[in-house]
Amino acid sequence: MGSCKGDKSTQLPKRNILVHGPVIVGAGPSGLAVSACLKENGVPSLILERSDCIASLWQQRTYDRLKLHLPRQFCELPLFGFPKKFPKYPTKCEFVSYLELYAKHFSIEPIFKKVVHKAEFDEFSGLWKVQTQDCEYFSRWLIVATGENAEAYIPEIQGIEKFEGHLVHTSGYKSGLEFEKQRVLVVGCGNSGMEVSLDLCRHNAFPHMVVRSSVHILPREMFGVSTFSMAMTLLKWFPLRVVDKFLLLVAYLILGNTDNLGIKRPKTGPIELKNATGKTPVLDVEALSQIKSGNIKVMEGVVREITMKGAKFMDGQEKEFDSIILATGYKSNVPTWLKDWDDTFSEDGMPKRPFPESWRGEKGLFTVGFTKRGLLGTSSDAINIAREIGDQWRKMRAK
Ligand SMILES: Cc1cc2nc3c(=O)[nH]c(=O)nc-3n(C[C@H](O)[C@H](O)[C@H](O)COP(=O)(O)OP(=O)(O)OC[C@H]3O[C@@H](n4cnc5c(N)ncnc54)[C@H](O)[C@@H]3O)c2cc1C
Repeated sequence: MGSCKGDKSTQLPKRNILVHGPVIVGAGPSGLAVSACLKENGVPSLILERSDCIASLWQQRTYDRLKLHLPRQFCELPLFGFPKKFPKYPTKCEFVSYLELYAKHFSIEPIFKKVVHKAEFDEFSGLWKVQTQDCEYFSRWLIVATGENAEAYIPEIQGIEKFEGHLVHTSGYKSGLEFEKQRVLVVGCGNSGMEVSLDLCRHNAFPHMVVRSSVHILPREMFGVSTFSMAMTLLKWFPLRVVDKFLLLVAYLILGNTDNLGIKRPKTGPIELKNATGKTPVLDVEALSQIKSGNIKVMEGVVREITMKGAKFMDGQEKEFDSIILATGYKSNVPTWLKDWDDTFSEDGMPKRPFPESWRGEKGLFTVGFTKRGLLGTSSDAINIAREIGDQWRKMRAK
């Protein structure tokens, strides 16, 4: 006799496992970094990862031409740097090979194919109960390392279900090869939207990029120095608004007036905006020159409606497209699996406490990699968490 889904008699009881040391959810750069720092502090940990590899975002959900947006020195994890031979902007393959080396160096062995679907604090035992499909793990500490980019963010666009062409989010986009000669609508103009549009150009497709809101585009380098390093250095000496003014002046000299291309700049400067909202400026890697030469068409404003064959825009234009790529970003998935999350997390799954205190939660709960500061933020969180848990661990052992 066959069994149907949800038939309780066929469900095996979950295994209960008491973990000595913290349970870390997620084996991306943040999970690896915090596990390595804990090890350095003499604390063992257990990583649970839903996919079948480390750094699944980088290995499985990013496009082929991706390189680190920031220079290597800002993307290294604590205690173990990039191999010396790596270029200034490592490719995604190089970055993944570094993370594999990193895991090997610290003998980090995550348990793969474990989807954490529920985690809750048990007041009676003082332990976190972390549930996967087949096990229940118990630990004094729970470290959330599931990332700011855990799930694709798909906005509600009228008619999207009617589109008969190929519709994909950037997390499913690999290369422009399969879009050759196609008219492609790219919805979104952040770093991913720009890079995907550039990649489409390189593969002889015809990208149309929707620019809904204002965005800062900065050259990736200024006078041979990365814009990010330049900003970091200047901020040590000058007030933020002065640095913003300087960046915008140099951006104007190098890139020209982006307003003329249909890409409006926000009124607030790039660093001030990043600090206030987390909105990252786009670091241009040649997409702008393709916009100037008309190979990437800018569609200003919001898409009003997706139709069977294309899209209607706010200004009344209607265009046909073969494919649509949603470069609409990502979201955290913490509220879907962490119970009673609203003490520590906001509705968007980001910590309520602002950086640099965002790593600290209540009752042994910690978060790593939720700072909107990329891998630099991950490193600082990992070091702080390991120090804090290391102290608690030593006190416990001394009793
Ligand atoms: C296209 C792109 C380019 C980027 N470039 C840069 C850059 O150049 N420099 C930079 O600093 N940052 C960059 N970032 C930001 C980047 O996401 C982070 O710096 C880095 O990947 C964050 O690592 P993380 O471990 O916090 O999250 P992730 O890399 O997302 O890892 C989280 C892990 O948690 C797992 N997970 C999620 N939910 C569960 C669950 N319920 N149960 C079990 N496992 C789960 C996921 O499978 C994943 O492996 C980029 C992001 C994107 C999307």
